[in-house]
Amino acid sequence: MDADYDVIVAGGGLTGTVAAQSISYYSNQNLSILSIDRNSEMFPGRKSNPGWTCGDACSKEAVDFMTERIKVPWTSPEIEHDVKGVMAFSPDKETAIPFDGDGYMLNRQKLPEIQNARTKKMGVNFDFEINLTGLIYDGPQVIGVQGINNKTKQPYKKTAKVIVDATGVTSMLRNQLENSTKIEKKIERRDLESTGRHIMYFDKGEEDLTDFDPDFCIIHLDQDIAPGGYAWVFPKADNKVNIGLGVEKSILDQRNKRLGKNDNLASLMEEYLQRNKAIKNAKLSQDPEDINNNTGVFQVSVRRQNDCMVSGGYILVGDSAWMPKPIDAGGIGPALIAGTILGKNVVDAIEANDVTEKGLWQYHLDFIKEYGYKTAGLELFRRLVQTLTNEQISYGMKHFLGNVDVEAISKGEHPDFSGLSKLGMIIRGAMNKTVANGLKYTSQQNQWLVEHYGNYPKEPEGFEEWEKSLHKTLDESFAKIATFSKN
Ligand SMILES: Cc1cc2nc3c(=O)[nH]c(=O)nc-3n(C[C@H](O)[C@H](O)[C@H](O)COP(=O)(O)OP(=O)(O)OC[C@H]3O[C@@H](n4cnc5c(N)ncnc54)[C@H](O)[C@@H]3O)c2cc1C
Repeated sequence: MDADYDVIVAGGGLTGTVAAQSISYYSNQNLSILSIDRNSEMFPGRKSNPGWTCGDACSKEAVDFMTERIKVPWTSPEIEHDVKGVMAFSPDKETAIPFDGDGYMLNRQKLPEIQNARTKKMGVNFDFEINLTGLIYDGPQVIGVQGINNKTKQPYKKTAKVIVDATGVTSMLRNQLENSTKIEKKIERRDLESTGRHIMYFDKGEEDLTDFDPDFCIIHLDQDIAPGGYAWVFPKADNKVNIGLGVEKSILDQRNKRLGKNDNLASLMEEYLQRNKAIKNAKLSQDPEDINNNTGVFQVSVRRQNDCMVSGGYILVGDSAWMPKPIDAGGIGPALIAGTILGKNVVDAIEANDVTEKGLWQYHLDFIKEYGYKTAGLELFRRLVQTLTNEQISYGMKHFLGNVDVEAISKGEHPDFSGLSKLGMIIRGAMNKTVANGLKYTSQQNQWLVEHYGNYPKEPEGFEEWEKSLHKTLDESFAKIATFSKN
């Protein structure tokens, strides 16, 4: 039976549009592509009713990666403000580490409007207001999607040779996937961060570049303010900001117990806004391009990407593949990289007439080479930082980070602390020795993990053994990292 389309991109969010554009580009518009989203055409790509909840920051490097390959430029108004990078401050604010380099603050409400217009021009078809509930199978192959058409309340079914799952972190398609034992369906609760942010105008308060900097995205690491995550002040103009924070639930509970408080995400966000000395009289933006997006909460994953990302006729990308970077939850960069890469892999598979698991497998190797090699190590690093106290984080950032480490961090890589104890430095206090040991340990594990990802199986056959060995090391590492905890 002929399929309705060559490719269906499920989920028309940030990643879905890039994936659709890339498939169109690499096929010279010769493939029929359908993008399906549950939102109305008025609000394309919205994560949920409160909007396109995001910190809105992304690196120029990732945008360039996409633009150079699939010739889609991002300009104003989807780029709202330029920044020179991200500056992460220690809890005592005495140390700041720059990373990510030049970047952009996006307008996430405008971006999908503009992206959809571009995507349409590239020959992609759209169905809106479709709530997808599952996949359609033919033996080992996924051959379509199904759901409800919210306009007509009628069942909805469409078939394709390949289904790209770009439905975000809560993906119903992945959760219930039936044709793979390799793809992980769910993640641990502690690999998810609850995050919220406001987009606001404000009056200038005290001049304090640790609280607001029009040229830098500021991150505050602080286990009291944002337990298990971080808080951020990202500039959108001299008097406009994206301000928010993310927490890990169990670490928030520990923090509340420790401080005798009963805070939740909303109260932490309010406290964070109030304590900012540079931002006064902040008000939610009423600009037309923010009005449907000025405040909201959503979740984001902070682990390595799914160990396996393809099955017969099915391929995961973006948040539905848990691609946000484990250390800072930045999901736009990897989404741009993976969405771009995927287009070529999907087109190659369709042209080779092999859209089986094996036919789509190359996607893993290409994504790992470009980005995915570093994420498991960063997952360990994130877990270690989550176990540290504010004093330990401040001490570690001040004393253990040399220029080489900062450079590694700026490239989004795990810094190499393997020589830490050999430096002959005097480390004050048992708690700080714990930090040094922890950093040394995650560095060593990271080296093994990067090498292991370099040996990702070239075909599905080798996957089981590769994954077994990955999980053995990760389980041992998680257990060891927990012993560094002083919470
Ligand atoms: C508070 C917060 C702050 C963040 N800050 C940053 C940041 O500053 N920088 C950064 O790089 N990343 C950040 N991220 C992560 C970033 O927002 C995501 O990585 C990015 O939006 C992922 O895009 P996506 O298209 O994969 O998923 P989504 O944006 O979630 O899009 C999924 C799309 O699929 C649709 N959909 C879902 N289910 C169905 C269904 N069943 N049927 C039909 N359609 C469906 C959704 O409505 C949506 O349109 C942040 C995340 C949060 C929550």
